[in-house]
Amino acid sequence: MMDNKKVPVGRFAPSPTGRMHLGNVYAAIMSYQSVKARGGRWILRIEDLDSQRSRLEYARQLEDDLLWLGLQWDEGGLDNIGPNGPYCQSQRSEIYAEHLAKIKAKGLTYPCSCSRADILATQAPHQSDGRVIYGGTCRPPKMPTIVPEPEGRYSTRLWVPDSEISFIDRNFGKQTFNLAHDCGDFILQRSDGQWAYQLAVVVDDALMGVTEVVRGADLLLSTAQQIYLYNLLGYQIPEFAHIPLKTNSAGQRLAKRDSAMSMAELRARYSPAEVIALALGHV
Ligand code: GLU
Repeated sequence: MMDNKKVPVGRFAPSPTGRMHLGNVYAAIMSYQSVKARGGRWILRIEDLDSQRSRLEYARQLEDDLLWLGLQWDEGGLDNIGPNGPYCQSQRSEIYAEHLAKIKAKGLTYPCSCSRADILATQAPHQSDGRVIYGGTCRPPKMPTIVPEPEGRYSTRLWVPDSEISFIDRNFGKQTFNLAHDCGDFILQRSDGQWAYQLAVVVDDALMGVTEVVRGADLLLSTAQQIYLYNLLGYQIPEFAHIPLKTNSAGQRLAKRDSAMSMAELRARYSPAEVIALALGHV
């Protein structure tokens, strides 16, 4: 019998903000196949932190689309199958709060009351690619520092060190980022209380026992941010396999609003096997 600890655990973690497109389908298939080929388990986690854009009906549709494709999860989903739930991020606030408290106790976070306009006005120079790097207006002069929590609304920002984080991606090879230069101090909880993806994804992947993360290549830099958080929280870092992003006929990265490649259109035109072949680039 296989040692239980060795069974690979993968996950698909979609945001229910619209119908899946071919790129999402590709990520789902790749993460599913990777663990299933080795007798592993596949988790479906609903990443619905963005309460403005997430909808229960999209999550239901997502489940229906996955089942139509033949991708049945072993754990998770709206029915919270399995021991590590709840599997919707909107229901995991207390868990994130406990983890944020641990990081705060290390003196590595600070309250930030900058508006988006302030941040744009004071961002570090040289960001020609559209990434906004926090200029450090609210950062205490010396870190670590336990900063008293002020009155009023503020977000909680994590201080990042000026040092390199490297990891080996299964598809893209060795990746190295310097968080201070590549992303800057980043938010863990927004001023309206919304948890940041970076914190939630690390806490969830760690507590759900995920051993490998297969997802789109747009999250390579996020992986460095997440590795920093894994280390701060003392959790084991999973393996990472980022996959190339799908593009539309104009060469732009697919978005949920691109109806041509959405599951609604794909299901109307093709069989599940044909959609899978399309997603894998076999046709
Ligand atoms: N929820 C993210 C998305 O739908 C995926 C995050 C991840 O796989 O880590 O883009």
